[in-house]
Amino acid sequence: MKFAIQSRRDAQSNELMELAKTYLQDFGLTYDEEAPEIVVSIGGDGTLLHAFHRYSHLLDQVAFVGIHTGHLGFYADWKPSELEKLVLSIAKKDFNVVEYPLLEVKVEHHNAESNTYLALNEATIKSPDVTLVMDVELNGNQFERFRGDGLCVSTPSGSTAYNKALGGAIIHPTLAALQITEIASINNRVFRTVGSPLILPAHHHCVLRPVNDQNFNMTVDHLQITQGDVKAIVFNVANERVRFARFRPFPFWERVHESFVANE
Ligand code: NAP
Ligand code: MN
Repeated sequence: MKFAIQSRRDAQSNELMELAKTYLQDFGLTYDEEAPEIVVSIGGDGTLLHAFHRYSHLLDQVAFVGIHTGHLGFYADWKPSELEKLVLSIAKKDFNVVEYPLLEVKVEHHNAESNTYLALNEATIKSPDVTLVMDVELNGNQFERFRGDGLCVSTPSGSTAYNKALGGAIIHPTLAALQITEIASINNRVFRTVGSPLILPAHHHCVLRPVNDQNFNMTVDHLQITQGDVKAIVFNVANERVRFARFRPFPFWERVHESFVANE
C-alpha cells in the first residue's frame, strides 16, 4: 500500500510525521506523494482540509485519516499517543472506510467558461463592496433577493465549522445534503430574506445570480478565490464523496459532544 503524510509543519507535527513515515515503511508500505492510497494528516482539521484539496483529484482511491496535535478535531480525531496502534491497523489493512458527502460549486462566467470546485467544509460568497446582492434560486424557481454580508453553503461534515458560527444546524454526515446559511442579511420593511438556514437534499440545487456587481470574493474551505464576470454560481451535493479510514468507532455525536459540550 502507498501512503503520504500531510503535516501542519509545527515541530510536534513534523516529528510525528517522521515517526509515522519510518514505522509505515518498516511495515513494508511505500511513501508516495503522487498517488497515495492512504493520506495521514497530522495537525488540525485545517491540515486535513489542505490534504483534501491536495488529493481531491484522487478521491476514489484515497482514504484520509487525521491525527490531532492540538485540540480534538472533527477530521483529526486520533491522538498522537495512538500512533503505533494506527500504524499497525494501516499495515494490517484493519480498518473500515466511511464516506462523507461533499459540496460541488460551479461558477459560470458570461463568456461561457465555468470552473467547478469541491468543498469538504463549505463555500462562502461575499461581495468586494459593502453589501452582497444576489438572487437566490432553488430548483429553478426564484426564492429571494438576498442582501447582506454573504451566504455560506456547507456540507454535513462542515456543519460544525463556519456554518455553526452562523447559527446553522449540525447535520449528521450520513445525510447527503447541503445547508445554506445567511451571513448578516438585511431585513426590514423593504428587504426580505427567509432568515432561517435551509437544508437541501441531494437532488435539489441552488443557484445564485448577481443582480448588479459581477465580481465576488469566494472561499472554498480555506481557499480564497476571486471571481469576476460571474453569470451564476450553482451549488449541488457532489457526486464525489470523501473517504475516511476508521480504525475504531467514534460516533459523530460523540465528537460533537467532546468538541462543544464536554467540560474537561
Ligand atoms: P482556521 O481559521 O484555523 O479555522 C477555524 C477553526 O475551524 C479552527 O479551529 C479549525 O480547526 C476549525 N474547523 C475546521 N473545520 C472544521 C469542522 N469541519 N468542524 C469543526 N471545526 C472545524 O482556518 P482553517 O484551519 O484553514 O479552516 C478553514 C475553515 O475555517 C473554513 O472551512 C471555515 O469552516 C472555518 N471558518 C470559521 C469561521 C467562523 O467560525 N466564524 C470563519 C471563517 C472560517 P483546527 O484548529 O483543528 O484547524
Ligand atoms: Mn486551522
